[in-house]
Amino acid sequence: MSNIAGEGPSEVPVGGTLIRDYTICPRQVWLGVHAISPDEDDANLVVGRFLHAEAESHQSLRPVVGHSRFDAVVGREGELVVVEIKKSARALEAARMQLAFYLLELQRRGVHARGEIRVPDEHKRIPLTLSDDLIAQVEKIEQAVRTLAEEAVPPPARRVSWCSRCAYHDFCWS
Ligand code: SF4
Repeated sequence: MSNIAGEGPSEVPVGGTLIRDYTICPRQVWLGVHAISPDEDDANLVVGRFLHAEAESHQSLRPVVGHSRFDAVVGREGELVVVEIKKSARALEAARMQLAFYLLELQRRGVHARGEIRVPDEHKRIPLTLSDDLIAQVEKIEQAVRTLAEEAVPPPARRVSWCSRCAYHDFCWS
């Protein structure tokens, strides 16, 4: 869960995680940006904390570009490949937008790379190439995140498939 408490919404540092979260549900981005804490005992959050703690021990190995931290970058056939690892393919479209944003951040710095989403538990490797259409989609989301962060109230709760796993579930639906 994104949590950028302590920074004003207008200073929201947009990274791949916010792009992913916005694609899943804009409301969770607004809640996170405005430092509204989710249910601390939520099982998904507990698991997330554990995974985050595990990842922390490998942080120094994960490249950072802008406000994004990649899972891995590998070289293949003379090209850079940015790898995004997911536990499942459930939120694949959000993962595509997240990874596309990483590729765009590199392109903005003059670096060309391809992307690959890996879902080890499902034995999936999904390639991603940055196209003009994908760039337009991601730039639109990036601007939407900045605009949303400055809104005074959150978007209304709308049921999405992610709700059952979301740490804001009780906040939105109790
Ligand atoms: S519970 Fe559903 S509507 Fe509420 S923030 Fe999470 S995903 Fe969005």
